[in-house]
Amino acid sequence: MAITHVHGPLPGPRGRALLETWHTYEADVTGFQAPVVWESARGCVVTDVDGNVYLDWTSGVLVANVGHCHPHLVQAAQQASTQLLNNYECANVQRIEAAQRLVRALPPHLDTCFFLTTGSEATEAAARLMRRRTGRQEILSFIGAFHGRTYGAAGMGGLAGPKKLYGASLPGSIRAPFPNPYRDPEGWCAGAPDFRRYFDHLDLVVEGNCSGPLAGVIVEPYQGAAGFIFPPAGWLKRLQEWARARGMLFTLDEVQASYGRTGRMWAMEHEGLTPDIVTIGKAIGSGVPVSAVAAPRDVFACLQKGEMSSTLGGNPVASAAVCAVLDIFEREDLVANSARLGAVMKERLQALSQRSRYLGDVRGLGLVIGLEFVTDKGTKEPAKELTRRVIVDAANQGLLVGSLGMYGNVVRVAPPLVITPAEVDESLAIMERVVMGLED
Ligand code: PMP
Repeated sequence: MAITHVHGPLPGPRGRALLETWHTYEADVTGFQAPVVWESARGCVVTDVDGNVYLDWTSGVLVANVGHCHPHLVQAAQQASTQLLNNYECANVQRIEAAQRLVRALPPHLDTCFFLTTGSEATEAAARLMRRRTGRQEILSFIGAFHGRTYGAAGMGGLAGPKKLYGASLPGSIRAPFPNPYRDPEGWCAGAPDFRRYFDHLDLVVEGNCSGPLAGVIVEPYQGAAGFIFPPAGWLKRLQEWARARGMLFTLDEVQASYGRTGRMWAMEHEGLTPDIVTIGKAIGSGVPVSAVAAPRDVFACLQKGEMSSTLGGNPVASAAVCAVLDIFEREDLVANSARLGAVMKERLQALSQRSRYLGDVRGLGLVIGLEFVTDKGTKEPAKELTRRVIVDAANQGLLVGSLGMYGNVVRVAPPLVITPAEVDESLAIMERVVMGLED
């Protein structure tokens, strides 16, 4: 029997009324979404305010890796909230345990962490660490990168919007091209393992833009907001070597790539990367707001006491969530499930792209898969409107997906890692119908 059921076109009557109220009082400035008002969710299954039931390929933007409202996480957060909600910089038992547990879950060289509240804050903290540790100013990042919306984090991002809309960004950040295997007119993806052509160009970018040696580089293991773009194998490793050879700190933004998303606990494991700084967010609390920055002890040693804090960072509820999420990862086979079912999904979606005129590229690792829609597979012209149709049609058939990408033409496949084979089958069948429906 099907898990999903949607009666009538969306939004349903209650959903329609609520959306109107919402946009009367809260600014309507969020991104494009299916017109659904969520009421509750458990695991991979979402129920809306009209009683429609969906499968979820969003994880609430790659947050609910352990599944929505995992009972162990809910119970831990509830329990902590009855004792103490916040105590700013003071110690609390949950924070101490969370720090120990997080560090033990990280690769051994990352032996110290610090808790904050959002991914953007973690980016800002990493930027401060890179500058303080090296005594240098400038930071390299990439075109298409997304590291958050606060001023400094957006300045290190490389999506077109912020640059055009808000004027000059934070001084001291320069951006280089990110190698994109699907769109590679310059041949940046060629020449593994040294990617000579790319790194010669990178040296020119740095020379032409910097006032002195760079403090560091910040990079996502795959570009999330740009459209789930995975660089060619070996490029990140080469980038790390390039940075080290220049005395820079290498920061890996694992805000969305960690906690099993790519089929490994940490995305850095795929190429054995040893970043100097790692930023962590989203799934670390799997719905409870918390983020962290992790680094070897000697990197944090450049800070004096009082240099880093956040009003709600390390609060007992968030810290209890960090521990509960790690418990769940220890008890359930989520990382292996991500690798196994992600491979199944990618294969079926790649087969679908063979049959579709518009599904130009299917790429991913574990349970993070991008579906790039184009109007013509030869020219690769981005198909933004078709992508929006996919989102709405999928929701109407019981599947929630989000879109993103530099050209707004990538559908993101990122279900909670607890997804079951039956849920994989049912959700894929919906996506197959939706994509083949575009041919009509
Ligand atoms: N880095 C990456 C790679 C992200 O995907 C995001 C959020 N999408 C952020 C940083 C910023 O996180 P937050 O929205 O929690 O500030």
